Order: sequence, then C-alpha cells, then structure tokens
Amino acid sequence: MHITALAGGVGGARFLRGLRRHLDQRDDGPHELTIVGNTGDDISLFGLRVCPDLDTLLYTLGGGVHEGQGWGRADESFAVQDELQAYGATPQWFRLGDRDFGTHVARSQWLAQGQTLSQVTARLAARWGLPDQGVRLLPMTDVPVETHVVIERDGQEQAIHFQEWWVRHQAAIPARRFVVAGLDRAAAAPGVLDALRSADVVLLPPSNPVVSIGVILGVPGVRDALRGTTAPVVGVSPIIGGAPVRGHADACLAVLDLEPSAAAVAGLYADFLDGWLVDDADADDPLPRGSRATSAHMPILMRDIDHAAKIAGGALDLALGLAR
Ligand code: GDP
Ligand code: CA
Repeated sequence: MHITALAGGVGGARFLRGLRRHLDQRDDGPHELTIVGNTGDDISLFGLRVCPDLDTLLYTLGGGVHEGQGWGRADESFAVQDELQAYGATPQWFRLGDRDFGTHVARSQWLAQGQTLSQVTARLAARWGLPDQGVRLLPMTDVPVETHVVIERDGQEQAIHFQEWWVRHQAAIPARRFVVAGLDRAAAAPGVLDALRSADVVLLPPSNPVVSIGVILGVPGVRDALRGTTAPVVGVSPIIGGAPVRGHADACLAVLDLEPSAAAVAGLYADFLDGWLVDDADADDPLPRGSRATSAHMPILMRDIDHAAKIAGGALDLALGLAR
C-alpha cells in the first residue's frame, strides 16, 4: 500500500511516527509512505536556511527528537547560540541548539552548491534512516516560500515572519491575515502531485489547518490533485473539544473568522475530504452541515507512540472502508 500524507511539524510528525509503527504491526506489508512537508515556516537565520517542519519530521521519525518539546534535538547544548548572543548577533528569540545547527549548516551548504531543497532533504533523510523505513520525505516545493503575518502597528499594517509572530510573540498579537510570500509562483516539488494522485490512501495528520496543511494546499496543483485522486482522503482533527491541544491553532483559525472546532477544520477541507476522525468529545458535531464526508470517533490525543499508532490505525481503517 502506498500512503501519502501532508504534514506540518509536531502534530504531523507524532502522528506519522505512530503510523509507521502501525504499519509495522500490520501483516499486509510492505508499505510505502510519502510525506509532503510544509515549508512555509522556513526562515533564514544567521545566514543559514532553517526548515522547522521538515526538521521536526526528520528528528521524530529518525529517533533524534526532544520528546518533551516535540521539536529540536534530544541532548542539546547551546554553545553556538550563546556565542552569537555574546556578539550581539540577532535574532535571539529563535533558539537553535548545537546539534540542530549541524543540520542547518549542511542544508545551507548543499543549497549554496546548487542542489534543490528536495535533493538536500533526501540527503538529510538518509542520515536519519527514513528510506530504510519505507518513508520518503518531500518538501511541498523547492521554491523558497515564507508565511508572513499581517499585523497592525502604530495604525499601520505591517508584515512579520510567521516565526516571529509564533515564537517571539506566541501568536498573541492580533493578526489580520496570513500572506505566504512566493506561494503563487511556487511549483510542487518533484513527486508531490504524483504521490497524491497515485496513492492508495491520502492522510491529513492533525497538523495546523491554516499555517501547515493550509499552506501546502496553496501550492499550485495540490488542491486539484486531492480533488482528483481516486484514493480516499482521510483527516484527523487537530482540535479536541474546542481546543487545539497544543500550540496556537485557535489563533490561526480566528484569523479566518473560524471557531476552533473539529467541524470548522473539516470545512476547510470540504472539497476533497472523504473521511474525518475526531475525538469522542466531538462525536456529536464532527462535520459542518452538508458535508459529504464520513466521520468516526475515538480518543485522538497522542499521549505516546503506541497511542499515536492506534489513532493512525483508526484513520487508516476509516480510509480503507471508504471506496471511491
Ligand atoms: P507545528 O508545525 O509544530 O505547529 O505542528 P503541526 O502543524 O503538525 O501540528 C500542530 C497542531 O497539531 C496543534 O495546533 C494541535 O492542534 C495539533 N495536535 C498536537 N498534538 C495533538 C494530539 O495529540 N492530538 C490531536 N488530535 N492533535 C494534536
Ligand atoms: Ca510548523
């Protein structure tokens, strides 16, 4: 079976690590998993290209992630960042660890040599053993794109990088809208559209529906590929009982004038969604009115890897039960 998934950072990575474990437990393998990662969070810091969501996927699936945080490396130290701070180099609100710096230096060197982000990501993924797990990690596009947040300052509109809004300001400054710079001229990276069209199942993990999945859906051709694929498209709600579990997905939905609810998120995917897995807490109101999707419910808080594997199994069973 070939499964293709769209993914942001922590929510996507934890779900997909669970899916990988679930696939290992099934006896109908081998299975192939293609992950299309969000690159709208990418940012250049200290002359280095940083891809937060791709790195979270690499570290989580590769066994090197800081479990408590859900992102960054385990056993991290901060000597390089401290040296940069001593020089007054900015920004200091985005902390990068020493091990993590290694990833950004390698990526930036290879990009400077003329390799595409797809090629660079494949090299990084090889180090983390993803191909050996049957996992292919693709950036959504090789064209640099960056999500910006339009805020109001001193009566004027101003755009700041998504990371500055999210990390430095903790999404607490009211946002007027998101603008993904470069997205309109971005082309899907090699293999992305084909992986959506030729998949047996397409899964949307519980990633941020606006700035992770929403940005991937904005890559020209992706939405059409999802509408046109013969594979069932099944998503897992990132909202449980009206709350985003972790992070500020509610602040992102508010920018679109949407309530933080499982049904509102399903509404964002209405034109291609076949199945929607929600928490037991949302069993009475899983979908927006008029939705043609089929819903199912179970506890979908990813407490540990085993439970994430159960949730992934639930999403896959829902998909396999839907023919289209
Ligand atoms: P990010 O790029 O690191 O913000 O990660 P993602 O975009 O992949 O996912 C972030 C979202 O995942 C959060 O805003 C939550 O809504 C959702 N999420 C995180 N943990 C869980 C969980 O255990 N269960 C569910 N259902 N959703 C979760
Ligand atoms: Ca992210």
